[in-house]
Amino acid sequence: MKARKVVIIGAGAVGTTFAYALQINGGADEIVIIDIDRKRAEGEVLDLSHGLMFTPPVNIKAGDYDDCRDADVVLITAGAKQKPGQTRLELVETNVKICNDITKRILEVTRDAILLIVTNPVDILTYSVLKSSGLPKQRVIGSGTVLDSARFRYLLSRHCSVDPHNVHAYVLGEHGDSEVLAWSMTHIAGMHINEMCRICGGACANSVRDDMGANVRDSAYRIIEAKGATNYAVGLALLRIVGAILRNEKSVLTVSTLLEGEFGIKDVCLGAPAIVNSKGADHVFDAPLSDEDLKALRLSADTLKAVLKQLDI
Ligand code: NAD
Repeated sequence: MKARKVVIIGAGAVGTTFAYALQINGGADEIVIIDIDRKRAEGEVLDLSHGLMFTPPVNIKAGDYDDCRDADVVLITAGAKQKPGQTRLELVETNVKICNDITKRILEVTRDAILLIVTNPVDILTYSVLKSSGLPKQRVIGSGTVLDSARFRYLLSRHCSVDPHNVHAYVLGEHGDSEVLAWSMTHIAGMHINEMCRICGGACANSVRDDMGANVRDSAYRIIEAKGATNYAVGLALLRIVGAILRNEKSVLTVSTLLEGEFGIKDVCLGAPAIVNSKGADHVFDAPLSDEDLKALRLSADTLKAVLKQLDI
């Protein structure tokens, strides 16, 4: 059997937390970490390697782009942080350039790996890498709203006192302010949320749903304000996506993928319920949404398209 190889570009909070989760999980045979700051990558690898006595065996090393040659999945978590005085748009331009340069270097050695974009703004960068690489759309995916969906499921599970595994709920659209909590797709214990609310009899105010939306959307801001970065839940969300690819799981995950008419939206990448298997994001479910959810999703797509237009991508 071919060794399962995962390359992580960007040895920051997100890249290394994912590496740590993957090491403990035992889902890969080889993990390679690349960073523009080689010393940092080497330090992280040494630290992770000292834990090998306690985890399944895996070959971990600090590497370079040649290591992407036989990789199954290459994650891009490299990016610049906002500098004082720098606008958000300037930061986006910087990260577009970083991601496109990294992609060029990956393509010099392989066109077979699945590229998983994590750097923000993830939907813009996924679209930009897809276009600049010319790779099939299945093989360039973003982490999308997988993390946001997990936050939504967590909040619902707490509110309804049900295990998050029994909650099926999706956040769609931009991984950002315009994202949409798709209430019309939300089910708990096999029941539509409206039915669940009816039999629960808790008579929650309508504002509960709005508050939950605000909570999901503001989570990253609150965590970053408190500790500087988000890393644990996103690390596990990435483990879920990469596991689905490596094990050909056909899991439905809201990765960022190119829409080609689904939900009446095209030519933009955003979080949508897609089958994730060994080919990448293989199929998007054009799920029937309520008019309200559909309208919000199309607005989210328009928000992203406006940024792409500003950047001339
Ligand atoms: P970080 O600053 O800790 O790490 C970034 C790393 O990228 C640094 O080690 C830096 O040296 C490296 N780097 C910069 N330019 C590079 C280049 N050209 N080549 C190789 N390496 C380079 O940042 P972080 O907290 O790990 O976050 C990384 C990215 O992930 C950010 O853009 C963040 O917004 C994003 N993020 C996305 C999600 C999501 O759900 N999509 C969640 C959390 C964070």
